[in-house]
Amino acid sequence: MSSARSEAPVRRVLLKLSGEALGGQDGAGLAPAAVSDLCRELKAFVDAGGELGIVVGGGNLLRGATLAQAGLPRVSADHMGMLATVMNGIAMASMLAQTGAQTALFASVAIPGIAPGYSRTDALSALADGKVCFFTGGTGNPLFTTDTAACLRAIEIDADLVLKATKVDGVYTADPKKDPSATRYEALTYQQVLDQGLAVMDQAAICLCQEHDMPLVVFDMSERGALEGIIGGAAVGTRIS
Ligand code: UDP
Repeated sequence: MSSARSEAPVRRVLLKLSGEALGGQDGAGLAPAAVSDLCRELKAFVDAGGELGIVVGGGNLLRGATLAQAGLPRVSADHMGMLATVMNGIAMASMLAQTGAQTALFASVAIPGIAPGYSRTDALSALADGKVCFFTGGTGNPLFTTDTAACLRAIEIDADLVLKATKVDGVYTADPKKDPSATRYEALTYQQVLDQGLAVMDQAAICLCQEHDMPLVVFDMSERGALEGIIGGAAVGTRIS
């Protein structure tokens, strides 16, 4: 299949990074080398004229559902999961700042001395100032995921699209690592993703994008220059709209 092409010029994006992108080989823990590689790509995107909001997950450190299965009350486990996303955001924002990029770190709930509480007005003004905005702490509510937080913030900041970084270059008919005959979709509708139960993002996130007409592109950020190329209208991944 040929690659998806953006339909309109892209300038402001909301990038969703899973926590495992910040982890070591197995996606666990925090690997500064992995964070540094990500920051190089983020800096290139900003230098190419892009405006960037980032929602980072926490799965490299912990996931609420997993802790709940092990016996912790779910809501408390989710509170811990949200704090894990703040830790990832601190790591990314501080390492990105070392590259010379300007950054702004927000948390869904203010953590005085560490991160101010999210405010749409402050986020829009930081983006207009060329700052890369990290929206941490998820939605601020348990029982949600950072996928939903990403789509929510994308709609709030009037992003051109949500970019979901994954380990493969789009959405496939089957897991390409297990099934060599799997083919990549160039484009999908929200409804196809929902009806076919395709593992793109959780259903709440897809529904939010569908309701607010927010396009979503699933792509492989480990491909050097893939993120930056999106500014120039390069063909990447699978587009869902
Ligand atoms: N979380 C939450 N509410 C949110 C976002 C996240 O409770 O709005 C918690 C939840 O426990 C989740 C964890 O934070 O498992 C880490 O987020 P997520 O699983 O989305 O991270 P990712 O899989 O993207 O690394």
